[in-house]
Amino acid sequence: MTRKCAIVTGAARGIGLATTDLFLDRGWQVAMVDWDHEELTQAAATRSNVHAITTDISKPDEIAQMVQGTLDWAGRIDSLINNAGIAEFGSITECTYDMWRRVMSVNLDGVFLCSQACTEALKQTQGSIVNIASISGLRASTLRVAYGTSKAAVIQLTKQYAAELGEFGIRVNCVAPGPVRTKLAMAVHTQEIIDAYHDAIPLNRYGSERELAEVICFLASEQASYVTGQVVAADGGFDSTGVGLP
Ligand code: NAD
Repeated sequence: MTRKCAIVTGAARGIGLATTDLFLDRGWQVAMVDWDHEELTQAAATRSNVHAITTDISKPDEIAQMVQGTLDWAGRIDSLINNAGIAEFGSITECTYDMWRRVMSVNLDGVFLCSQACTEALKQTQGSIVNIASISGLRASTLRVAYGTSKAAVIQLTKQYAAELGEFGIRVNCVAPGPVRTKLAMAVHTQEIIDAYHDAIPLNRYGSERELAEVICFLASEQASYVTGQVVAADGGFDSTGVGLP
């Protein structure tokens, strides 16, 4: 039987690597995509049924090569997981235009471009897209003017794609993670933010990469065959409360 194929962007570490491993556990093959060539090559070297493709997902030419490379390798694309992202925190006055553009080009442009580039292949499999937004796209807190806005836009992009691609049998959903102790989060979470999250989250803890991967893989799977255009907050209940952050 031909293995289903997922493209996971930002697969070299963190939530993307955990998602890759869960797809592999479930018998899929995975095109692992990341711009960090060294970390990606190392992660792929210890796994079977994967194909590493070094790509900057904010660059249309590189994305086109990545999609063609996946099709040459696997012959199909059943799911696209738009997970790659960057976080840069700063107040509105600290957020330079360069910072704003860096965050938007990866977190928002990357999701738009990768989804667009995979659409024809996904029509062939009646596949699915799962975008990784953030609770920062659902609720505003200080310092996240670029990051939070990029993630709110990803939530709307999810709905736009779901509305337009439904007629082709393509489902498009979004996961909004709460805090997870990855390299991305630990670079911007001060002790003050860590303490505030622990207090504000009803489950009183950070999530794990695996807990996020479970939700992502569910939305990508046939078990979610009647779910599209949705945002699932996997956040320990943070979004359900009104408690704020510094
Ligand atoms: P991470 O830093 O561990 O992993 C992100 C990966 O994306 C890295 O391997 C990085 O090299 C890659 N990447 C970044 N920009 C890229 C680009 N332009 N092209 C290709 N690859 C690129 O971070 P993570 O926490 O696992 O983040 C995964 C996703 O989850 C991100 O979209 C992030 O915004 C989102 N998220 C994370 C948290 C958290 O607390 N960790 C919370 C909410 C949302």
